Amino acid sequence: MRRPARLAVVTAATTTAVGLAVPAAFSAPATGTPAGTPTVDPMQHIAALQQIADDNGGNRAALSPGSRATAAYIKQQLSDAGWEVSTQSFPFLSGTEENIFAERKGTTGDVVMLGGHYDSVPEGPGMSDNATGVAGLLAAAAATADAQPRNTIRLAFWGGEERGMKGSNYYVDTMSAADRATFKGYLNFDGIAAPNPGYYVYEDNKNGEQINADISKWYADRGIQTEQAFLGVQSDHGPFYTKGLTTTGIISGYLGNKTEAQAQKWGGTAGAPFDPCYHQACDTKDNISPETLKLNTQLITSLITDYGAKDFSAA
Ligand SMILES: [Zn+2]
Repeated sequence: MRRPARLAVVTAATTTAVGLAVPAAFSAPATGTPAGTPTVDPMQHIAALQQIADDNGGNRAALSPGSRATAAYIKQQLSDAGWEVSTQSFPFLSGTEENIFAERKGTTGDVVMLGGHYDSVPEGPGMSDNATGVAGLLAAAAATADAQPRNTIRLAFWGGEERGMKGSNYYVDTMSAADRATFKGYLNFDGIAAPNPGYYVYEDNKNGEQINADISKWYADRGIQTEQAFLGVQSDHGPFYTKGLTTTGIISGYLGNKTEAQAQKWGGTAGAPFDPCYHQACDTKDNISPETLKLNTQLITSLITDYGAKDFSAA
């Protein structure tokens, strides 16, 4: 996530909830799970990505060994979950970086994308920003390993986001006319489990309003009050947004302090930052909310299932 001037809070919706109940569905598989078994527990992905940063100089920044190891881990997990994996190289500074895609083909030709960036800033391991998005997407990919969607689901893991959305810009700039014709939306997951979490849905893109409403309803059905946030082009939805393509996403807060009213409805600490370690060395595996990560992994899993089945011709 790029550092904007200020996070704009637009409106508030209904219901209250403190003390989130985490569904049993996400109980971690027994330790010693045989290699090759995709895991539905996002916390296991967080542990693996932290270890990668620890083994590679403390970060997973673009063009670094930590980024390469992260890319290899993502590809392995996706192919273990039976998804069709491909990559797209793009020029980056003096070298090249890569975007990673995982696809589950449908029969309608319509394509729905869900994604997040896998690089960190050079200053730290990037667990809240954005191992949480990667872990949620990988766990959801494993949880939907047997899905036979009507529409094609394409998961995207972007490189070079912290240096200006390089990967997602390259993808959008190189979309063919056929890609645009079948494109139904891109959902962004960047910073989805801050340690003092909030529940925001992007309020950027008029085209994304239906998806926004579906996401807000999903939370409301679980007693969680969301707020809408305007992020402009501060993450990988930006290139889609700039080209007028349907896009939206969620974020659990990254700048500024949680207000008293927000602490009332979301729990956590009022007057404290959502993410005190944003873009710092202390953005480690202890700098996330495991409960919020598991809940948002459930959201991503539901979106893959629901948008995989959606009849866009009726929309
Ligand atoms: Zn980010």
